[in-house]
Formats: sequence, C-alpha cells, structure tokens
Amino acid sequence: MSTKKPFLTKEKAEEIIKEFPTPFHIYDEKGIRENAENVKKAFSWNKGFKEYFAVKATPNPFLISILHEYGCGCDCSSKPELMLSKAIGIVGEDIMFSSNDTPLDEFKYCNDLGGIINLDDITHIEAVEKACGKLPKKMSCRFNPGGVFKISNGIMDNPGDAKYGMTTEQLYEAFRIMKEKGVEEFGIHSFLCSNTVTNEYYPMLAKILFELAVDLRNKLDVKISFINLSGGVGIPYTPDQEPNDILKIGEGVHKVYDEVFGPAGMDDVAIYTEMGRFMMGPYGALVTTAINEKHIHKEYIGVDACAANLMRPAIYGSYHHITVLGKENEEPAYTYDVTGSLCENCDKFAIDRKLPKIDMGDIIYIHDAGAHGYSMGYNYNGKLRSAELLLQEDGTAKLIRRAETPTDYFATFDGFDFYNDLIKE
Ligand SMILES: *Cc1c(COP(=O)(O)O)cnc(C)c1O
Repeated sequence: MSTKKPFLTKEKAEEIIKEFPTPFHIYDEKGIRENAENVKKAFSWNKGFKEYFAVKATPNPFLISILHEYGCGCDCSSKPELMLSKAIGIVGEDIMFSSNDTPLDEFKYCNDLGGIINLDDITHIEAVEKACGKLPKKMSCRFNPGGVFKISNGIMDNPGDAKYGMTTEQLYEAFRIMKEKGVEEFGIHSFLCSNTVTNEYYPMLAKILFELAVDLRNKLDVKISFINLSGGVGIPYTPDQEPNDILKIGEGVHKVYDEVFGPAGMDDVAIYTEMGRFMMGPYGALVTTAINEKHIHKEYIGVDACAANLMRPAIYGSYHHITVLGKENEEPAYTYDVTGSLCENCDKFAIDRKLPKIDMGDIIYIHDAGAHGYSMGYNYNGKLRSAELLLQEDGTAKLIRRAETPTDYFATFDGFDFYNDLIKE
C-alpha cells in the first residue's frame, strides 16, 4: 500500500508562501530527477531507447530541460509545442510529432525541425507530401487495433471507441504506400490505455506491436527502426493503489523483446516511450489556502484555487489526494466538499472527503497535479492561471512561470483600450 506523503512540510510551504502567494503549482526537482534516472535504467538494455516526454502533460521549458539531461526528447502534438521543444534545444529526431487531426503547416514545421512525424491516419501520407514536398526518410504510423484492451484483471480501455490511429488493414496499406514513396525506416506507435496502474500494460502492448512489426517486415520487406509504446503508464492517485515499478515494466518489455525479436533477427529495434503522467504527475502539487467555509446541506471548504488550476476532478471526476499541511497526523474526523470558486458545481477538488478539521488559513496540498494539471488550465470566470514553482534540490523555490495578471487576461482584445485604465485599479 502506498502512503501519500507531500514533498512539502507546512514550515517549508509557509516560507514559500511569504514570497509567492497561493495558489501555485510546485514541482519537486529531486523526485523528477530520481524518476527520470529510473526510467533510463529500466530500459538501458535497449540501445536506442528514448523517452519522448509528452509535452502536453507539463509544458514548462524549465522542467523539460531537466528531463533532457536524462536523454529525454519531446512528444509534441501542435506547433506551439514544437516551438517550445525547439526553444529548449530539443530538435531533430529528439522530437516525435504524435498529433492527430493535424493542420498541414504543422507537418511542415515539424519536418523543418527534423522531427519524426507519426501519422495518425492513412490520409495523412498525402497531407505530408503536400506539406513537405515529399515524405521524410523515417516515419511512423499510429496503430489502433479496435476492440477492447484486456489485462489479467479485466478490461482496461476501449480502443475501438478512440479516434486515434489506423486499423490493421490501413497500417499495412500505409506502410506499402510509404515504402513505394521512398520511406526507408519505419516506426509503429500505439496508445491503447490511459493511466494504467499495473506493470502488465507496456509488456502486453509491446507483444502486440513486436509481433506486428515482425509480420510487417516479413510481408512488406520494410525496415522497422522503432516501436513507440507511447504513454499510458499511470500513477497511484488514491492511497490504496500500488505504484508501478518501472524497473519491472522495463524487464517485462525486455523479456517480450527477446522472445519475439530474437528469433526474427530484429534485435536492433529501438524502444521509444512518450510518458507524460509517469514522468511528472507525482512530482507536482497544487498548493492552495482555505479561505471560506460554509455550512448548508453539506460542509464546504472554499479554497483559493479552482478547476481552472486543476481540471481533472471537474471533468473526469478524478480523485486527487489532499493533505492539510501540518495536520498529517490528525484524525480525518470531518467530511468535506473542497471547492473552488467557479460558478460551476463541478468545481470541487474533493467530494465527501474525510479530512482533519480545516481552519481558515490552513494550507491545502493537492497531490499528483504535476501532469495534466496546470496545462489543462483555462480562464473561465475570469480566473487567472497560477504561478509554477520549482522546489530545487537545495530546498529553495524558484519561480518557473509567473502567475497571470489581468493584463494577460485582457491582452488579446487588440484595439479595445478601456482596460489600460482599468488594470491600474
Ligand atoms: C497524452 C499523450 C501521451 C502521454 O500520456 P500519459 O498518460 O500522460 O503518459 C503520450 N502520447 C500521446 C500521443 C498522447 O496523446
């Protein structure tokens, strides 16, 4: 059983809040580094291994630069994400462009950076030709086998219902056409389940993709250079979940690799991953202060963050563990809904949550907000995005993205000038 421990103490949080008021997202440099090192170790048996960090999870150049020190590239899905990658100095084959419903100019932008284009659809072969003049020498296709994806303890996800990737038939057809049009090296990509908290997912996916790779090589005489297992490795959001063991996952993939690629003589295929959540999720927290309490039909605690800072509970009903800093050892004798201030009843970080008694001014630490947290933020109700801080290894906090101001919020109303006076208020 995992115990969910904040990486901040109350004293440390108070010290930081003196300089940077709540709400803010804070990331734990030590945790990020240790995990990145483990990921590297888990796949060190594979010569070409690369983790392409899913930029959408946490698009902060300071954080991605840390991952880059461990050899990570960027998995991008839009032009601004490609631009971010370029700004960090991650270019060429350190970029994987796993987009879908892609505009032509984004294929071109990626190709100009030398990134690897991962085609979501067979019709995109022509789109890339149109955008780039001709197909790049190295390309990838995204595979969707349809149906449901099962592991030993049941159905994990429903690829048959997902908009991504090509059917088996289309994949073979796409490889045939691409080879004819001069593509020399191929990759296969697939993302079949999200947030899997089991060591079985990657090895099972690997088996499917490795066998497919052997068959494609045999039938079409194509060179398969890499298999991209994409994202989907999850984290234990709830305290009862056992965290994934990335070393076991790496070993599991290694075993299947030897079993399938060994006899096929394909032992030079590189393994790629595109993890987002696993790389950053546990190492980020949303820190907020209790500012209102309300006793009506239920007990409510209002905090100074809202769903605009962390949207997962509102849109997916996701559980995010909450610690009231300084009350880690108190009995969870109270039942609260912990809410933000949006005029939306789904704006609740927790519903019927057992917590210690919360007093106004208490610092509320919302766990596992490091991936798909800040990045999903929005400005509904005129809410401004919070700051992002890095808790550095020396214990000091560094501002790695300032909080938005009203000027940012009004910045796109070009030509409408009343706010120049307003924002002075
Ligand atoms: C979202 C996404 C990822 C990252 O997923 P995680 O669950 O955060 O690991 C990787 N690849 C693609 C194509 C994605 O869309």
